[in-house]
Amino acid sequence: MSVNAKAHITGLTQAELIELVTRLGEPKYRAIQVFKAVHDRRLRSFDEMTDLPKDLRKQLADQADISRLTMEERYVSADGTRRYLMRTADGKPVETVYIPTEKRDTICFSSQSGCPLKCDFCLTAKLGLLKNLTAGEIVEQIIIVLNDVYGAGVETPHGTNLVGMGAGEPFLNFDNLVAALEIMSDEEGLFIVPNRVTVSTAGIVPKIYELANLERRPHLAISLAAPNDELRDRLMPINKRWNIDELMKAAREFEKSLRRGERFTFEYVMLGGVNDSDQDAAELASLIGRYRLRKVKINLIPHNGAEQLDYAASTRERVASFKEVLESHGVSAYVRTPRGRDIYAACGQLAAVAGAK
Ligand code: SAH
Repeated sequence: MSVNAKAHITGLTQAELIELVTRLGEPKYRAIQVFKAVHDRRLRSFDEMTDLPKDLRKQLADQADISRLTMEERYVSADGTRRYLMRTADGKPVETVYIPTEKRDTICFSSQSGCPLKCDFCLTAKLGLLKNLTAGEIVEQIIIVLNDVYGAGVETPHGTNLVGMGAGEPFLNFDNLVAALEIMSDEEGLFIVPNRVTVSTAGIVPKIYELANLERRPHLAISLAAPNDELRDRLMPINKRWNIDELMKAAREFEKSLRRGERFTFEYVMLGGVNDSDQDAAELASLIGRYRLRKVKINLIPHNGAEQLDYAASTRERVASFKEVLESHGVSAYVRTPRGRDIYAACGQLAAVAGAK
């Protein structure tokens, strides 16, 4: 009962766009022109595509939309991180974060509006699931951010990395995610290849196996948060569906599919007094040893707080000690510096919070 029967151009692969344009009786090269206009030049209306015949522009506008997201607010952190609050055509919030570093830009995109998982430490969980984002809504987030940062049509000065670590559980919207990644990897478009993308899952086990079998696939991060089922059941209820044993077996299988030199990640949110003792670290190292995972690295993420969340971040000393214990067992660990905490842009803080500019 879609009100909008038009296609969303931004969510079409080049092949799908060729189909649409040839159906209008136009040659294939016109479709490629349109694809480039949307994804490489990042134009936001058919009117701007002045290299197309007027007739075709009109026909396209009758059949399709370029934009299905509107930017509602932009919050800029003291550290340069930007959080964008956008809205879908059906009124659901979408958040995207731009994280500049010296050498490259990272854009953290959302795969869902809200999230159905109920991780106890995450603010997005409080929203519940509002909707799965379409492939076009995923791609458009990146286009909007790049245009805001660099200007429409301006070539970006350095490479863009993507992380699928915004709102939502990407593996519960797997097909749209994979479609979006395919569109974004196109050489004639954004040209963000899978090797520049990392997708994070709370542990949707069957999709980890599926990802392992994908030819062109992004890097994988798995959110662990606890070294045993008792604690993980409490922190991440998805653990009751797929427990640590099932998750580790999937991780083991995924590891086998890695290319030489490639690694994957466990993310471990550090909750003061909850999961951050030296004993927890030793238990985590022993878990990794038991499943013979050799290509995993651990990202330690100090908890980002919010009023509705009952957790405190681990102290700096605790994090350092935890890391040391892991390393003493031969497990590589890195501490993630929080970015954009002051504007609710950091991990686990995306909940369409307005006001905090
Ligand atoms: N649903 C996916 C994608 C979200 S990624 C997943 O769970 O992996 C967000 C990352 O931030 C996850 O590793 C999650 O565990 C972590 N996280 C969630 N809430 C957080 C918080 N308040 N502080 C720090 N990290 C948090």
